[in-house]
Formats: sequence, C-alpha cells, structure tokens
Amino acid sequence: MAPEAIGPIAKALRDGTSFVLSSHARPDGDSIGSQLALTHTLRALGKTVRIVNHDPPPAYLETLPGVTDVEVADCVYDRFDAAVVLECGTLDRTEVTGLDRQPVINIDHHAGNAMYGVLNWFDPSAAACAEMVHDLIAVLGVPLTPAIGAALYAGILTDTGSFRHANISARTFETCRNVAACGVDVADLAAAIYQNSSLGKLRLTGRLLHEMRLEAGGRIAILRVDETLLHDTGCPADDMEGVINLPLAARSVEAVIMIKTTDGVTRASLRSKGVVDVRAVAATFGGGGHRNAAGCTLEAPASEIERRLVSRTVAAIERAGHLRPAEPRA
Ligand code: 5GP
Ligand code: MN
Repeated sequence: MAPEAIGPIAKALRDGTSFVLSSHARPDGDSIGSQLALTHTLRALGKTVRIVNHDPPPAYLETLPGVTDVEVADCVYDRFDAAVVLECGTLDRTEVTGLDRQPVINIDHHAGNAMYGVLNWFDPSAAACAEMVHDLIAVLGVPLTPAIGAALYAGILTDTGSFRHANISARTFETCRNVAACGVDVADLAAAIYQNSSLGKLRLTGRLLHEMRLEAGGRIAILRVDETLLHDTGCPADDMEGVINLPLAARSVEAVIMIKTTDGVTRASLRSKGVVDVRAVAATFGGGGHRNAAGCTLEAPASEIERRLVSRTVAAIERAGHLRPAEPRA
C-alpha cells in the first residue's frame, strides 16, 4: 500500500507543468538515478523538467539515458511549479541556491530528514531513494521503460553497496523485479558501473590496500587518498566508486574510514557491516548518511581528524556489541 505522503506529491506533479529537480552535491548513483527516473516519467506526462546539481554526474553513470541533460550550477534563477529535491536530508545538501524560492517537494530516505519541503515524503526504510521514486512512478501510472528502469537500478545497485547493505528489503527486490521485467540489461549496467574504470583506479586500489592501516585489532581499516596519490597512480578523483568497500571483504574488518584530501578539502567516507552505525560517527562531524554508508566534510588536518574518527568508530563498534571476534591477520 502506498504511504500517505505519495498522494499529495503525485497530485502536485500531475497539476504542475514545469519542474526543477536537484540532489546533493557530489551526486552518487542514487541521486542521479532517482533524478533521471523521475525526469523520464514527468516528461512522459508532458511536463517540462530541468535537472540542476552543484556537481556533474560521476563518470561511471555516463551510459544512463538522459545523463547529459544534467545541468551543473550553484543557483537556480527561474520559477518552476515546484523544485523536487531528492536524496537530501536538508535543503543545503544541494549546495544550489534559489531552490527555496520554489515550492519544495522533499523525497528522501536519509535518517534525520529535516522535513524542509512544502510536501515531504521521508522513508528511512527505503534502501535507495530510487525505490521511493519507483513507487511514485507507479502511483503516477507511467509504465516503466528501459530508460526509467536503468536509472532506478543504478540507484539501487550503488546505494546498497551492490546488494550488501543492511537496508535491503523485499521491496528492494520487488523494485528490481519490475526493472528486469521492463527490459533493462542489468548485467550490462553493472558492467558499465563496475567494470569500466580507468587503469589508474586499479593502480590506486593496489596502493590504497597496500598502505591500508588497521586499528582496533583489525576491526577498522583506514584508507588515505590525497592529490599526490591520485597523481602518482593516474586515477581521476571521481573514479573511486566502490574502492571503500574492499576492506570489508576481510572477516575482521567491521568499519572502513576513507579520508580524501583534494582541492584543499578533506572529506571522510565511512562504511560498515551489520549493526555498526557509521552514520552516528559522521553526524558527530556534521555529516550524515546511513547506518552502513555515511560521510562528512572535515575542518581539521587529516592526521588529527583520523585519530578522532577512529575513536568515534571504535565507540560505534562497541555500541554494536562485538558481533564477531576480531581476527587480525598478517
Ligand atoms: P559517500 O561516502 O559515498 O560520499 O556517502 C555515503 C552516504 O553518506 C550517502 O548517503 C551520502 O548522501 C551521505 N553523506 C556523505 N557526505 C555527507 C555529508 O557531508 N552530509 C550528510 N548529511 N550526508 C553525507
Ligand atoms: Mn541514497
């Protein structure tokens, strides 16, 4: 049964004629996938749609139909019947100004969403925002096309860490079932996302894993990326999708901290297994995300931040109650 919040949003989308869609800065597969799926749907209903994000789509999504329609800007000047903001816990996550001059429709699955819209649909049980967009498309009565399906699948595949995170439910697979049924070549899409990277990324991966540090008896893996490493390996800064998940392959590792310093900005990405809550860790640094995947922008020098991130992550693992014994290996 569709949640109550969908009805008014579907009505607003049916009644309006022009929409701007936005998502968070440094968009990921779920941001772009959710936006493209909704764009194709609204255009099928005869609506005018623009997608405006602060940063360009990642290169690994370049095969998604419609991805070249995404505009990169830090301000929206025109008037629209509504701004549909996808995947953002707060409006400022877009880093696009002028959206607040439009009636905002907020569709998101990040715990702690600030309900900043005129219309809000917040569902933290969704594994991806794309799962919510799938349900909205069903209410709008637009049949899935391969272009819509590919966008939805890209969102779900990447946001679940390739079907590994704890937020997956039967609904995730129902969505994917419908995607497969509409003719999307899911293997082809997975290859475009995961088997299409630069050789530089491969070299970076080797160096990162070689230089990985372990803390808390092998429970925490720490990866550090900076300009020098990117330059030495020839890896483009936007070609690191999935690398952070690799240390989780080791039995002992319960959380990964990846610290990236590029263009003078230091950001941390966090990943975890099971009930270890890295969103809580990111939140203490002003960031957010999900239990198994979170991130934040950091103010202090990388060395000092690393110590604080590790101690917060140790606390998160302790709160999770040591589900498995640590097994550090040489
Ligand atoms: P990633 O590590 O891939 O950049 O992000 C993982 C998850 O954390 C995503 O759901 C992303 O939206 C969220 N996230 C990353 N950085 C931030 C941040 O600075 N603030 C908030 N609120 N969420 C973030
Ligand atoms: Mn998401």
